[in-house]
Amino acid sequence: GRLADGIARSVSGLTDAVTAPFSDKVIRLGVTGLSRAGKTVFITSLVANLMDRDRMTGLRAASTGAIRTAYLQPQPDDTIPRFAYEDHLAAMTGAQPYWPEGTRAVSELRLSLRMQPSGLLGTIQGARTVHLDIVDYPGEWLLDLSLIDRDFAAWSEDALKRIEDRPEAEDFRRALAETDLTARLEEPAAQRLAAQYTAYLHAARAAGYSDCTPGRFLLPGDLAGSPVLTFAPLPPMPNAPRNSLAREFQRRYDSYKRNVVRPFFRDHFARIDRQVVLVDILGAIHAGPPAVEDLRRAMTDILTAFRPGRNAFLSQIFAGRRVERILFAATKADHLHHSQHQQLTDIAAALLRDAKDRADFAGAKTKALAIAALRATTEDRIDHQGTPLDVVRGTLASGKRAALHPGELPEDPSHLLDPARQGAGKWLDAGYEVMTFSPAALSLKPGEGPPHIRLDTAAEFLIGDLL
Ligand code: GDP
Repeated sequence: GRLADGIARSVSGLTDAVTAPFSDKVIRLGVTGLSRAGKTVFITSLVANLMDRDRMTGLRAASTGAIRTAYLQPQPDDTIPRFAYEDHLAAMTGAQPYWPEGTRAVSELRLSLRMQPSGLLGTIQGARTVHLDIVDYPGEWLLDLSLIDRDFAAWSEDALKRIEDRPEAEDFRRALAETDLTARLEEPAAQRLAAQYTAYLHAARAAGYSDCTPGRFLLPGDLAGSPVLTFAPLPPMPNAPRNSLAREFQRRYDSYKRNVVRPFFRDHFARIDRQVVLVDILGAIHAGPPAVEDLRRAMTDILTAFRPGRNAFLSQIFAGRRVERILFAATKADHLHHSQHQQLTDIAAALLRDAKDRADFAGAKTKALAIAALRATTEDRIDHQGTPLDVVRGTLASGKRAALHPGELPEDPSHLLDPARQGAGKWLDAGYEVMTFSPAALSLKPGEGPPHIRLDTAAEFLIGDLL
């Protein structure tokens, strides 16, 4: 009605009388990836570059001028924390730039795009507004999907088998051996086990392992310390008495699924239209073959969430809807000279295909890409003992300038995905370790390219068709 029209107009601050707020298009764009994959940097840079579109030639609606303005607005969901865009942007673009704090929980930001195509089409259609609701959430939470169909015994068996020979789990294994699991539950004993298991998950992530459930143990948000996060995998205890630690852990696991995992998928995940999954492939390659194998499995698990047909719970919450496009993006490509970017894209494509081969994505369009949301380096070619060497230059965390060549990537990406061959190659030598470039303000000379790598291509794939 007219009243609602008026309210919507005053909220958006528009004065245009022909505005039709109820026909405004809304795109919910999900941004995920494991911790440190680059979600925060990606969202901050995407929003900044959509507001100031000079460097977005690969996004058609930007290069044609169809996007007239882009501005932030109050988000539609009042109870989801707002993505701290201004803080993150200030960190990355201040006089002394630094990387912002990464994603810890779900957050949201609404960017509204005022559209007016030029020419006849624009005259006929008039101006319209497209709202881009960006939803940022940890990829770790998606891994929890694998818990939905698994009971405590099955999950425990998997988890315990995985950590059998991992040194990171030594303390947890010892704590488990020292605890009487059939004894009456004492909260301190439960907390000790949960703390040891959580410490293991953190150590495993630091060592490059990706397959770490339950996801909230790593990123608890406001659930930290609650009973629903105070359990751990246990060996089979079929005859554990009531009120024992073993029985209580089983109950808490079920509660975790019911009260944490399901609501997240239902309230956030099932409403997404477009999705970008960010992956730190270079980091995993550098960490070594077991980390790559683990990343491969974690990505398959994460991408499972986008195949609702395979899963009764997902089919039910999606109720016929689906995520229409999924971009699988290898981040931090600015660590490589562009002569190596195609190889990185090929590896991302191989990872995506590997997951896809197990079942398709119910008609969703998919694409793999190597990107850098914020370029921290410039390219150069130096003379290395008589042969030319392609390098990237940047400022290290210590403040020192450095030119680095990170080493070779595998020629054939299938070698990375084949457990039998993962040890065969030696990729990304030790030099890569010191490549923690600061987000230096680049003094970009003509020819040095934009302050991002293929962020515009990413945006075109994700939302270009709807603009
Ligand atoms: P999140 O945990 O997924 O939110 O990850 P962040 O966005 O916080 O990124 C984690 C870290 O990766 C940052 O602190 C940077 O060190 C690095 N990083 C992320 N994006 C880029 C990029 O485009 N270029 C470079 N060189 N480093 C990046």
